[in-house]
Parts: sequence; C-alpha cells; structure tokens
Amino acid sequence: MAKVSINLATGSVQKEDIIVGIDLGTTNSLVAFINPEGNPQVINDTGKGVLVPSVVHFQSNGTVLVGNEAKEFLIPDPQNTIFSVKRLLGRSYHDIEPNKDFFSYKIIDNDIESLVKIKVGDQFFTPIELSGLILKELKERAEHALKTPVNRAVITVPAYFNDSQRQATRDAGKLAGLDVLRIVNEPTAASLAYGIGLNPDEEKIIAVYDLGGGTFDVSILKIQNGIFEVLSTNGNTFLGGDDFDQAIVHYWIEQNRLDKTEVSNDQELSQALRLKAEEAKIALTTQNIFNGAVNDIPCAISRITFEELILPKVEQTIGCCANALRDAGLGVDEIDEVVMVGGSTRTPLVKEMVSELFNKPVQDKINPDEVVALGAAIQADILAGNRKDILLLDVTPLSLGIETMGGLMDIIIPRNAKVPSKAGRQYTTSIDGQVNMKISVYQGERDLVKENRKLAEFDLKGIPAMPAGFPKVDINFLLNADGILKVQAVELRSGVKQEVEVKPTYGLTDQEVEQMLIDSIQNAKGDVSQRMVIEARTEGEQMIYTVERFLEKNKQYVSPAEVTDTKALLEKLKLALASGDKDSIHKNIEEVNEFTRPFAERLMDQAIATAMKGKAIE
Ligand code: ADP
Ligand code: MG
Repeated sequence: MAKVSINLATGSVQKEDIIVGIDLGTTNSLVAFINPEGNPQVINDTGKGVLVPSVVHFQSNGTVLVGNEAKEFLIPDPQNTIFSVKRLLGRSYHDIEPNKDFFSYKIIDNDIESLVKIKVGDQFFTPIELSGLILKELKERAEHALKTPVNRAVITVPAYFNDSQRQATRDAGKLAGLDVLRIVNEPTAASLAYGIGLNPDEEKIIAVYDLGGGTFDVSILKIQNGIFEVLSTNGNTFLGGDDFDQAIVHYWIEQNRLDKTEVSNDQELSQALRLKAEEAKIALTTQNIFNGAVNDIPCAISRITFEELILPKVEQTIGCCANALRDAGLGVDEIDEVVMVGGSTRTPLVKEMVSELFNKPVQDKINPDEVVALGAAIQADILAGNRKDILLLDVTPLSLGIETMGGLMDIIIPRNAKVPSKAGRQYTTSIDGQVNMKISVYQGERDLVKENRKLAEFDLKGIPAMPAGFPKVDINFLLNADGILKVQAVELRSGVKQEVEVKPTYGLTDQEVEQMLIDSIQNAKGDVSQRMVIEARTEGEQMIYTVERFLEKNKQYVSPAEVTDTKALLEKLKLALASGDKDSIHKNIEEVNEFTRPFAERLMDQAIATAMKGKAIE
C-alpha cells in the first residue's frame, strides 16, 4: 500500500514518495512500482509502451531522444544513436576492443586503459552519463504515469557486474536525480517477482537463468526462513540475444556472398541487417521459416538453421549453469525450481536445453522482459519497510584482495563470499624507515595480480619511520549490500589512518568474468608453483635485506668471524634466489636463519625476528 501522510501546515494530503524498481537493461529498460493494491506493476506511460529501448539519440539541434523515438535513428543516423551502453559501463577501451565492430558510434580509443568515452558530434559522453539519460527518461515516465514525484529507486544489475560497474550504475542514477537505495542483482529480483521466498515457511533452491540482449547470468539461490541466499553465480557479460542476431547476419552475408568488410563499413546496411535478423529470430520463436529482405538482399532462414547457428552459444550458457551448480556444491536434482528471465529465453531451443539440463520444466509464467523490474519494485517495497520479514543476501562473484610483494594477489574477501561482507588482514613494511605504503586493490582469481583486474590504488602516508617489519598496518575491506567496496588502512602503532573511497582506476579488462574463472582453473597448477617461487624469493630477499642491515648497525655485538660466515651464507642464498629453485631457496633461508638467530636473541632485539615473519608490502 502506498502510504499517505497529511501535511499539518497546509492540511493537504501527500502521497509519500514512491520508491520504484528499475531494470536498466542492455537492450530494454523499464520501471515498476507497487500499486495501491500492493501488487507489483510495470509502468506504461500512456501509449509509450512498457519497454523503453536503451537507446539515446542526439539530434543536430541539441535535442536528446531516449527509447523508441531514439531507436528510429539507429539506421539513418548510427553515429549519433547510442545503443547497448550498458556493455560499456565501468569498462575501458582495452576491454571492449575485441567487440568494437559491434558499436556503430564513435568510442574514443586513444586512452585504452581509462574508462571509455563516446564522441557524438564534438561532444564527449561517458557511459554513466548516457545511462543517466535513460534513467531520467524512466523517472519522468514514472512521474507522468503516477502523477507524483519519483526520487528514490532500486536499480538492478547483472550478477556479474563488478564493483566498478555497480558504482557506475549508482552514479548514473545520481545523474538522473535518483537516490539509489540499493543495487540488486537481476536474478535475485526475478525470484522475488515469482514470489519465491515471500512465505517464510518455504524452503527451496532456485536456479535463475537470465538470457537478455547482451548479458547472461545464472544464479543458484537458496530460500530459507524468508531469507534469500545466493549460493553461487556464473555467467558471461558478452553473451545474449544480440549474438543470435549477429549469427543470423553472418549467415545471410555468407548465403548472399556479400563482402563482410564492405557490409561492416556500410553502417546503415549492417544496422538494417541486424534489425532484420532480430525480426527473424523473434518470428522463429513461433514459426519454422522466415522470409524477408533488406534492400534487394534476400534474408531467409529456417528454425533448424537458426538453432544450429546458436547452439554453441546456448551450450556455453549451459556450461555456465553446470559451473554454478558445481560452485554451489549441488547436483541437478537438488534444484527445486528453474526461473527463466530475459527476452531471449523465449527462444524454444533455450527453454528446451535449460529444461533438459535441470531435468524439469522451467518457470516462465511471468513475462521474461518484465520479471526483473517487478522484482525490483518488490525489493523497493521491502526497503520502504513494508515487508520487514525479508532479508536479502548476495555474494561477490570474484575475489577481492591486494597486491603483496612480488606482485602476488592476497585475497581478502573470497569469491562467492556473502554480501555485505567485512574482512581484514595485517601487513607490515619491507624497508627500514618506510613512511608510505602503496595499497593496490585487485579483483580476480589468479595468483599474480598482473593477471587480475586492478580496481584502485592509494598510498597510506605518514607512517612514522620505524624498522622494517615494525609497523602494523590493518587493511580492511568493507563490501556493502550493493557490492561496492570500501578500503581502509590503519597503522596501529601510530594510529595513522586512511579511509579511502575506492575509485576504480581501470575498467574491466577485456576478459569476461567467466573467462577469468576458466583461466584461473586452467592455470591453477602453474600459478601455485609460480606463487611458491615468488613467495620464497620474497622471503629470501627480505632475509638478506634484514640481515645486512643488522650487521651494519650492530657490528659491536657480532664477532668478525660470525660476520664473515654470515656473509658467506648470504652469498649462497643470493645464488639460490637467482636459480629460482624454491627448495634450494628455502634451504638457504633456513641456514641463514639458524646461524643468525642467536644474534637476535643476544641483543634482545625483536626487530629481526619480526621482520622475518610479517608479510610486507613494497
Ligand atoms: P536486456 O536485459 O539485455 O535488456 P531483454 O531481457 O529485454 O534484454 O531481452 C532482449 C533480447 O530478447 C533481445 O535480444 C531480443 O531480440 C530478445 N527477444 C525478445 N523477444 C524475443 C522472442 N520472442 N524470441 C527470441 N528473442 C526475443
Ligand atoms: Mg535483463
């Protein structure tokens, strides 16, 4: 029920402002709310339809169009008509380069590591600004249809969005003038729309399969005591119905012996083919054959051919489902329900294969285009305090950690950890008198940070000069309910503290999350042995550093013979380091350790012992 309050000053009745749920899709966006009867309902602003194509068009006179009107310009004015901007949110040019032909508008490519920018005429736009324009349109449609101001929203994102992408979505909401109360995973919203978990006595395990225009997600959710818990997530942020369309376009290019480069250079033609392909795909949901044409190019395709073309893509999604099951530690038979989400799940082959994998009929009663927005509205209702018995738990799809010596990834919040989540670890310095500590935050599963995604970097400054190994630096990660990461560093001895708002310095790398996971599994063995060598080498280098400093400073406590012998042992250790044989490194470290331990004891100086233990950051 929408709450009503009375303004005591004027005596007028005010509707408490409504919190809407928004599905900001790659292809289509829409907004929903809880109607006065208490049911979720999508908003259809008079005659404009429910789905707002996620397309923005810039006219030469400065007018900006969003939605269906903008979509009209995809063919006649591709340079000034932006589609699929969600694929660019939180990403760098480097990330999207393999798919750059997909975009018919100008993406700035001279700074490949920073977040992408789009050039329209002589103006530059970020994907955040463009998404903001779509959200603004949704807000205005909601206000027009509901005849009340709309200032607060819940916005959904694919489960695989990383922190940078979630932050970008939140920022887009801000630009649209929306207070974004929560960023919710789309599969979580979808299961809410099916009412699953609203009854506290219900205990179920659900698989949510979401194949939209541009992204694919699968999540395994557990519902217990009215609590949603995401057991695992998997997916591919570059797989969706758009790929089905592209497969059809390529097929027609081959069938008609067209020159591929010529077609892709002719932006109007490739757009027209793309739209015709989508028309064919949708027709093939209910028909066995499609016949059409673009200009004088015949465009025909049968359902059988279509299914052959898309089979590898659908199989990929099935593979993701199997991975999600494995990560959740569940067998197919333990899944009680399978929920279908996204327009592309209307394709019969998709339904068949998903149903076959899970060995049961799929849930597809609710319109797959609307189900996420409806669930977002329910989530908004929960946040408004109308359904207090429900609590949502999510998981983080990739591990979060920091770089330690030798370029190693030190995971602080592991993959699939529950969100919100808080974790920390203590670190120390590697050099005497070190006053700054560089903290680099990464996301990913590989052992070397260079294989992972850098999210942020900052310096903890003003650590008082102390011997190496003395400072105690606590690094805490706080992953909030939206999946946004805050990193805090405190040097405990001095109290020097840095509460840093982590701003992503890079977008995603070009690898998809799924690929990252596959890579981490394939390279696991090599990674681990590499990590072990690096750890041994780092330990050896620190040992050499510490012992040499010790000898320099404490000559009076060590006999000349001991100095000579120690130096000989250090030389041996250096040779071992150069060899890269970790067993030999460990052996030599141990020898130095044994020989020098009495020195430290003799001096009652803990410095050396501490330095040899603590993990250090360069
Ligand atoms: P997104 O979440 O990425 O915005 P949607 O859930 O709106 O995507 O799904 C859009 C995709 O669904 C498009 O690729 C569209 O072509 C596809 N689609 C819509 N209707 C059908 C249909 N009847 N059969 C197959 N695909 C469809
Ligand atoms: Mg969607």
